[in-house]
Amino acid sequence: PLAPPSTQSGKRGVPGVEAIIAVASGKGGVGKSTTAVNLALGLAALGLKVGVLDADIYGPSMPKLLGIKGKPTTVDGKILKPMEKYGLKVMSMGFLVEEESPMIWRGPMVMSALTQMLREVEWGALDVLVVDMPPGTGDAQLTMAQQVPLAGAVIVSTPQDLALIDARKGLNMFRKVDVPLLGIVENMSYFVAPDTGRRYDIFGHGGAKAEAERLGVPFLGEVPIEMSIRENSDAGTPVVVADPNGPIAAVYRDVAARV
Ligand code: ADP
Repeated sequence: PLAPPSTQSGKRGVPGVEAIIAVASGKGGVGKSTTAVNLALGLAALGLKVGVLDADIYGPSMPKLLGIKGKPTTVDGKILKPMEKYGLKVMSMGFLVEEESPMIWRGPMVMSALTQMLREVEWGALDVLVVDMPPGTGDAQLTMAQQVPLAGAVIVSTPQDLALIDARKGLNMFRKVDVPLLGIVENMSYFVAPDTGRRYDIFGHGGAKAEAERLGVPFLGEVPIEMSIRENSDAGTPVVVADPNGPIAAVYRDVAARV
């Protein structure tokens, strides 16, 4: 049986879903989706029932990241059944439109698509729904932050100052709408050359940790830039699935445990 929808300052929850967590970044390309999917798999590895909502309407990445093909079926012609992979329930705009057709929607359509993917999907009983947010701080982000009782937000940033300035914007948006900040993950934190073992701080290092301390937000962990992360993502087998006993999977499990 579905649990009653949780309520938080008048926001309507999703029936059966205990906690909704947003994974956000101030700009694109910092590894937000990679973090979201591996965090979700890390949470599942802790024994939780986990769903992933790909809220990046203009650039959905979950179909590729999880190697999911095909279209979701409906229950009674309306409610969508989420796709399932690696124990996760997944919904993405990428399942509903052709891969190469551009999304030429304006804000209100994006917002209604988002609420549909959230509420007109048979999520069933979930401990956590991880929402891969679109990058930035536009309409879609505000819709999610204002209409959904978010248990909290995880901010992904590279160590670079510029990314951090963007990340700070994202962070402040959640603060403004009273969504708790679960913490910051530093992605592409450093690089260890596989042949020499030498470490390089390509984008600088530690910027996110320093910023987290300054802002009084938990620092959740640092993920190196590593070829296997990109390769596994491209192959539809995220690193937590491809190498569950490896060091990167351990980092994501730690992040999941801290969240
Ligand atoms: P975003 O969601 O912020 O746009 P993605 O998660 O799609 O970013 O990542 C952008 C690209 O960088 C992808 O090709 C992804 O595989 C790669 N990538 C992300 N994080 C890492 C990492 N730690 N090491 C290597 N490649 C990474």
